[in-house]
Amino acid sequence: MPKLYLLLGGNLGNRTLYLQQARETIAQRVGTIVQTSAIYETAAWGKTDQPSFLNQVLEVETNLSAEEVLQTINQIEHDLGRERLEHWGARVIDIDILFYDNLVQQTQRLTIPHPQLHLRRFTLLPLHEIASNLIHPVLHQTITQLLQVCPDELEVHVVE
Ligand code: ADP
Ligand code: MG
Repeated sequence: MPKLYLLLGGNLGNRTLYLQQARETIAQRVGTIVQTSAIYETAAWGKTDQPSFLNQVLEVETNLSAEEVLQTINQIEHDLGRERLEHWGARVIDIDILFYDNLVQQTQRLTIPHPQLHLRRFTLLPLHEIASNLIHPVLHQTITQLLQVCPDELEVHVVE
């Protein structure tokens, strides 16, 4: 069964609750969650009154194709964000596809592996926790290696 890595993120409202609801909905609509990283917090920088981000990476076994996963996570973002959308004027949950097995795909709608993943500590750290030996199918490096050379210096720490 295809193995999928998803990044969850959010910086509005009850961030932990949105992550939990996202996990529950992903388990219902996308597939079985087989690994879950801790929740990581990335400090807001520059504008310090802005809420910091929470991020989490999930490993999911799915029967859906990559395109179907994209449609489903877009729907989940919409469903979870809907009630607060007018109030906050922004999404409360962002769900990105990091990897889908060894698939390499670049279309207007979907780029896999996620084009920024190797540049962001808030993605690499939780991914490293659950998949340190995974090999990036384009860069041909493990997550450990990508983390060692990642230029991002934003502080990221575990919150739970
Ligand atoms: P961002 O994630 O950059 O903050 P959005 O969540 O609004 O922005 O995503 C914008 C679009 O990015 C989505 O509608 C989707 O079609 C596209 N996209 C391309 N590659 C991916 C990917 N790997 N995971 C999720 N969305 C992707
Ligand atoms: Mg997104």
